[in-house]
Amino acid sequence: MAYCDEQLVSSPVVGRFAPSPTGRMHAGNVFAALMAWLVAKSQGGRIVLRIEDLDAERSRVEFVDAVQRDFEALGLTWDEGPYFQHDREEAYQAAFEALSERDLVYPCFCTRADLHAASAPHRGEKPVYPGTCRSLGPAERELRAEGRVPAQRLVVPDRNVSLDDLVQGRYRQDLARDCGDFLVQRSDGAFAYQLAVVVDDAEQGVNSVVRGVDLLCSTPQQIYLQELLGLPRPGYAHIPLIVAEQDRRLSKRNHDAALDALLVRFKTPAAVIGHIAGLTGLAPTCDPTTPEELLGSFDLNALPSLLRNLVQIRWE
Ligand code: GLU
Repeated sequence: MAYCDEQLVSSPVVGRFAPSPTGRMHAGNVFAALMAWLVAKSQGGRIVLRIEDLDAERSRVEFVDAVQRDFEALGLTWDEGPYFQHDREEAYQAAFEALSERDLVYPCFCTRADLHAASAPHRGEKPVYPGTCRSLGPAERELRAEGRVPAQRLVVPDRNVSLDDLVQGRYRQDLARDCGDFLVQRSDGAFAYQLAVVVDDAEQGVNSVVRGVDLLCSTPQQIYLQELLGLPRPGYAHIPLIVAEQDRRLSKRNHDAALDALLVRFKTPAAVIGHIAGLTGLAPTCDPTTPEELLGSFDLNALPSLLRNLVQIRWE
């Protein structure tokens, strides 16, 4: 049974792995993929693999291969894909044009430094764009475009967007106050993550999004884009982050938690999965196990109580 709120209860569940090939996976990425797999498979669903290589500068072919080998070794199987974001330019462009035709996007000439200066970090989450370039007139835009290729931003209304997250419960943001006009295309021409992810999830039939809670604050932006583009809203489950220390996220630079180091430390993929499962409460012990074995005792309905109050899980 799909838990997503706007899908027919009977539609098959389609979850996804959406790795960015900017490094080897770390324990947090493995946990997110394991949860996405368990949530989909426990409902008889499928998994799509999408390689999020939108950021051409940071993505590397060797990590595209490594991430697929890592999933296979860990028993995290996928049923469809890999799809690559670098093949999807036309679809993003079409979505961008649909927004642009309705006058919902405008060029933004702010530099990173301007933005930094102009925006206060908001609840430690994300900077809110103050709307500097929203009201520039056509002549001013033309003049500025001579000196600098602009990024493109979406106009957001002063409106609440809320969702019922499977793990975090009800989450709400006021788009104007908490988020501001957000980027849909960068000044180097690359489409922004928010736009790409919405277009891809819809096209690939994804109706179950399971990912780290650090992306919860992006979800209202994605829901707003889905509404504008007439796309269905998936069900969302935002899971705790595995952190190196309080408030310090694991990153691909934390070599002690990167998969190559984990395999040296724990010796086998089953021992890596077992450690992560024990640490996060998915299994009663840290004994070696496989996703398939965890599926046997996985209870989707118990997930909120298992994970809700755990914003961060300390890696050890
Ligand atoms: N590609 C993102 C990452 O690897 C995940 C994006 C998403 O799940 O929406 O962190």
